[in-house]
Amino acid sequence: MSSPAQIHVAFDGRFARELAEMAIPWQADEAPDPRLLVLNEPLAIELGLDPISLRTSEGLLLLIGNSVPDGATPVAQAYAGHQFGGYSPRLGDGRALLLGEVVDVDGLLRDLHLKGSGRTPFARGGDGLAVVGPMLREYVVSEAMNALGIPTTRSLAVVATGRPVQRETLLPGAVLTRVASSHLRVGSFQYARASDDLDLLRRVADHAIARHYPGATKAENPYLALFQAVTAAQASLVAQWMLVGFIHGVMNTDNMTISGETIDYGPCAFMEGFDPATVYSSIDEAGRYAYGNQPLVAEWNLARLAEALLPLLHDDQEQAVALAVESLGEFRSQYSAAWLARMKAKLGLLNEVDDGVTSPLVDELLALLQEGNVDYTSFFRNLSKSARGQAEPARGMVLDLAAFDAWVKRWRALDPDADAMDRVNPVYIPRNHLVEEALSAATLGDLGPLEKLLVAVTSPYDERPGLERYAAPAPEDFGAYRTFCGT
Ligand code: AMP
Ligand code: MG
Repeated sequence: MSSPAQIHVAFDGRFARELAEMAIPWQADEAPDPRLLVLNEPLAIELGLDPISLRTSEGLLLLIGNSVPDGATPVAQAYAGHQFGGYSPRLGDGRALLLGEVVDVDGLLRDLHLKGSGRTPFARGGDGLAVVGPMLREYVVSEAMNALGIPTTRSLAVVATGRPVQRETLLPGAVLTRVASSHLRVGSFQYARASDDLDLLRRVADHAIARHYPGATKAENPYLALFQAVTAAQASLVAQWMLVGFIHGVMNTDNMTISGETIDYGPCAFMEGFDPATVYSSIDEAGRYAYGNQPLVAEWNLARLAEALLPLLHDDQEQAVALAVESLGEFRSQYSAAWLARMKAKLGLLNEVDDGVTSPLVDELLALLQEGNVDYTSFFRNLSKSARGQAEPARGMVLDLAAFDAWVKRWRALDPDADAMDRVNPVYIPRNHLVEEALSAATLGDLGPLEKLLVAVTSPYDERPGLERYAAPAPEDFGAYRTFCGT
């Protein structure tokens, strides 16, 4: 559908063109009464879009795919995936569409994507829809992650559709406009591999290399270089998750990107009291995706990517397997190095401090935090005060005071830089009770709490008066928190 008043956006349809076997042209459902809930103006500008036009009725139609610029081909993308370890050969965008790619102000190609835009041929039993709460949740958490400096898909807007959606109760429907450097997933490769079409698999890999790792073309074995690049990107990404206490909640292979961006904010949550066994997702009964398991799961998912890539790695299968195993073997050391370097920064220690000194120091600290179920985020923020000689804020959080005092003495002897700590230890994260509060209010039509929460979490390192409640752990009566797969 096109209209004379439509906003001009130059969409490319590169995925649809290059990988047509994995792209079903499709249209978004028409929304009866679209209403803008939140628009990310800085991101719009980054994309070369005019925020004022996006706020007009034509702009809203663009944001939900009800008005498609000439030349754009919205598609539902095909992908496969292991969900909780079980393989599904055909998942795909059941309720999402790729509108196309736009070139941002830095010249980078970015996907514009809709979530909650109606049933597609991949919808299976689902209604293809999404509701206001979970779409705003993705908006808040992804933008918080971005502000924390962690690679992630972004959120451009959430538009309420005016259509009630049946969940446990009737809830207001919404569409999220998502931005990503691409939506290629481990599951995209699994899909191509399962199609038994080597040419398709090669084209998916070439597309991934061109968009994310152009340097790989110069490697002796470009497809191995692709795998190595994804492994390194994921090692770094998951290390960053761990260091802010982020729990993705549903690390299925279809929810792991090739770009190394965090994707698919469903049952995700931030850990409060430090405990590697922390699980919030109601569907993760066995704790497969518990906080402490995330590096292992990432490695497992990368093994699935390696399997999918095997025919491209070498003509001889045995040699292909050997190459994959060797490269995957790098993951653990890459992860550990990324994790320790960033943990040192959290502790205000320069990289020159010997790892043989810092490793045991870190292990002892984490044991103290676990023993006291200490609030992970506020502890590290308080610890910079200990570096300034003001012991009590952090000390008051642990149980074993003698052990903590001895620990602080050793740590301070390494001359930690308190200001540097405050630049990497956030004050504000999207704490679960605050997210729930904001989403409940928004579902009832009050966007005030959401807007305030966004003010706090989009400048996470900058402590500001008046925002004290956004820095505090959940009140006791918040209870055992559960998250639900974002439908
Ligand atoms: P997710 O858990 O969001 O990664 O989704 C897993 C798969 O289920 C994807 O193929 C989604 O497109 C599909 N899906 C999730 N919710 C719905 C829905 N309400 N309608 C149709 N498909 C859905
Ligand atoms: Mg998904």
